[in-house]
Amino acid sequence: MITMGWNDVTSKSKDKDNTNKKTKYNKLTTGKTHTIRILDAEPFSRYSHWIQAANNGRGVSVDCPGAGCPICADIKEKKKTGGKQVYSSRKLHAINILNRETGEVEIIDKGKGLFEALEGLLVEVGDLRKYDVKIRVTGEGNETSYTPIALPPKPLTEAEKALTKYDLKNITLKPTPEQLQMLMNGAALTDVFGNNNAENTDNESQDKPSVDFTS
Ligand SMILES: [Zn+2]
Repeated sequence: MITMGWNDVTSKSKDKDNTNKKTKYNKLTTGKTHTIRILDAEPFSRYSHWIQAANNGRGVSVDCPGAGCPICADIKEKKKTGGKQVYSSRKLHAINILNRETGEVEIIDKGKGLFEALEGLLVEVGDLRKYDVKIRVTGEGNETSYTPIALPPKPLTEAEKALTKYDLKNITLKPTPEQLQMLMNGAALTDVFGNNNAENTDNESQDKPSVDFTS
């Protein structure tokens, strides 16, 4: 379903409407130091599955729907029978941040490697919303390591406080068991969720997990 109006003709880059804006992620690129300010008291956490067959083999990461999840059932079954695991599962945590380089609100959506390190700061230094954090990222893939350092406390400006955050509960696709089955059979995201929804997610470029944390 594509609905276009006159507003869409010229609004491409000056679109301030959060609902029409593509969600911005901070990927925390390796080899760089990122300075961010955490804007949320808590991350939004959920289990995520990697489906390699989806999107014609390019793979996709989706949130586990919980009850009736065919992927959880498959993982459980393979564990019981000793069959080769096709899917993986891990806990992901999303949080709103202010990118100090661009001045924009972005989302960091990562696993426990980063969030355990951030939780360490929370315990040692205190509320993560009260100071900037410099994160050094080294290594690749599963070897990626995050070293966050707390900078001296500094209040947010009024303009920074007024920035619109993302509604983290709505950033990811929430497939039904039926939609998951389609993805497991190799369907493309656009076939399963429609163009608008599929385009607004960044699932294809999420880190591909290879560790099974369900055990
Ligand atoms: Zn599941």
